[in-house]
Amino acid sequence: IKMSYNYDDNNIFAKILRGEIPNKTVLETDYSLAFEDISPAAPVHILVIPKGPYVSHDHFAIEASNEEFLDYTRAIGEVCKITGVQPSSGGSGFRSIANAGQDAIQEVPHFHTHIIGGRNLGRMISPT
Ligand code: 5GP
Repeated sequence: IKMSYNYDDNNIFAKILRGEIPNKTVLETDYSLAFEDISPAAPVHILVIPKGPYVSHDHFAIEASNEEFLDYTRAIGEVCKITGVQPSSGGSGFRSIANAGQDAIQEVPHFHTHIIGGRNLGRMISPT
């Protein structure tokens, strides 16, 4: 099977990256942007996105450059520091989630990692 990813330039995070829609930025780096989720599921709910046109985590993992990959991973680490959720620094923990495609109910087709914390989050996945 040949894999191909079709990035939609009109998705809402593309508009945020172009400055067409405002956001509450937590961190901006060369290749990544972190901002507050508009509909937070917990006291801490940050979205970390690469600036590049990647649809999903698998797309990014397969096609991102080393620079993008490193920058993104470090940006997530920095967001954990900024928000104070790191268990190793007295924070009470967090969950990182990246939804992809229909089974995960991905709503925005630009790769993003949710950093969620500030309350007990229960078990990993709810039963259906
Ligand atoms: P997904 O379901 O794709 O993993 O998550 C998409 C997330 O984007 C949701 O948590 C939703 O609240 C958030 N979101 C959707 N539109 C906007 C927006 O315009 N601004 C911000 N900051 N977050 C958004």
